[in-house]
Amino acid sequence: MRTLISDIAFLMTGNVLRQELEDAYVVVDDNIITGIGTGAPVLRTPADRVISGARMLMMPGFVNTHHHLYQTLFRNVPQVEHAKLFDWLKFLYEYWKYIDEEAVYTSAQVGICEMLKTGVTTTTDHLYLYPYGNNAIIDAEIRAARDVGVRFHPTRGSMSLGKKDGGLPPDSVVQTDEEILVESERVIHQYHDRGRYAMTRIALAPCSPFSVTTELMKQTAALAEKEDVLLHTHLAETQDEEEFCLQRFGVGWLTPRSWFAHIVWASDSDIRKLSEHECGMAYCPASNMRLGSGIAPVTVMKQTNMRIGIGVDGSASNDTNSFIGEVRLAILLQRVRYGADALTSREALAMGSMGGARVLRMDSDIGSIEVGKAADLIMWDLDTLEFAGGLHDPFTAPVMCDAKHVSFNMVNGKVLIENGLFTNIDVQALVARQNTIAAHVMAR
Ligand SMILES: [Zn+2]
Repeated sequence: MRTLISDIAFLMTGNVLRQELEDAYVVVDDNIITGIGTGAPVLRTPADRVISGARMLMMPGFVNTHHHLYQTLFRNVPQVEHAKLFDWLKFLYEYWKYIDEEAVYTSAQVGICEMLKTGVTTTTDHLYLYPYGNNAIIDAEIRAARDVGVRFHPTRGSMSLGKKDGGLPPDSVVQTDEEILVESERVIHQYHDRGRYAMTRIALAPCSPFSVTTELMKQTAALAEKEDVLLHTHLAETQDEEEFCLQRFGVGWLTPRSWFAHIVWASDSDIRKLSEHECGMAYCPASNMRLGSGIAPVTVMKQTNMRIGIGVDGSASNDTNSFIGEVRLAILLQRVRYGADALTSREALAMGSMGGARVLRMDSDIGSIEVGKAADLIMWDLDTLEFAGGLHDPFTAPVMCDAKHVSFNMVNGKVLIENGLFTNIDVQALVARQNTIAAHVMAR
């Protein structure tokens, strides 16, 4: 199947040369980009399908590097609107313990669809609680992603320190170290695709260094090494946890296969260590603001060897899954701390696509529009109200003018959104299902 997207008004390739083309075209064969150029395309074999890019801005799809998709059921919960991280967690765990496969399947689709509409083509997820030992919820989540069509790199998360061991979560959502390791292996063997253009990959992700045993941190790192998969966890999100977490750095986590969510509270020497090991980081500005956690030193980190992507974080601490909105906040929040030239709109857009691809170690296949890469492409309609008067620089309009939704989203060669509408999802039915489940779990 050959697809030609022609007459693209503006094309930001997002590659290292940061090419910006006008009047361009892209050729896609099945799921792979096979041609890029300007003007009228000359094709030896004609296209099976031609899509118009007239009055559109095309850019590489975004890569979301941190999420807890089940939390879309717990947006805007009034009891924790003002809560700080630990109080927020303690309250919500009592409701989170009721999620089951249906809740996870539906909530994941909701979060993914909202991200697709805001430019995401690849996302991770950090699913760290398995109520009453229900290991099948991760299978439900992977099914949800496959049914929608997003490229998915979820993590098999974990918690092993419940209330009886001095941890925060109820004992009903934690598992033993042994169960966790056995399940982690099962999920890797069942789903992790090591091939090129993989649609599903698995990483391992203890919730945070304070919700699992030190032994599990160590064993998880060893298992990731053995299975050659990535490692993920929350790190230094709030000031009070900083010292606690850094003590646990000696357990095999400072490696190029690790990426950490937040790292708000890091000293210069911490950043040096993270840089030396080329660690990755998911910058989540909305969540950091929502919970009053602080401003991550991204302006300092971007000058090091750290790999930096952007993440919307779970919907209980963001309430929205708008990725383009997150890119905009990424810029604005850095400027609050470091001044007006801290982070440019082009840098932040690159962080959202190529940066995320590097964090998930998928940058040879995704993250930019280049021949040989997967066809993960988004387009913005430039003739919308939010861009009116803002096209002096069309390439940065989506982020500076606060764009709401893409007009077009293609993942792995498959069109998921066309003319602003989902091609394969009944959104109204999904919304109704989600609201029923959300009301039910909060009424427990
Ligand atoms: Zn998180």
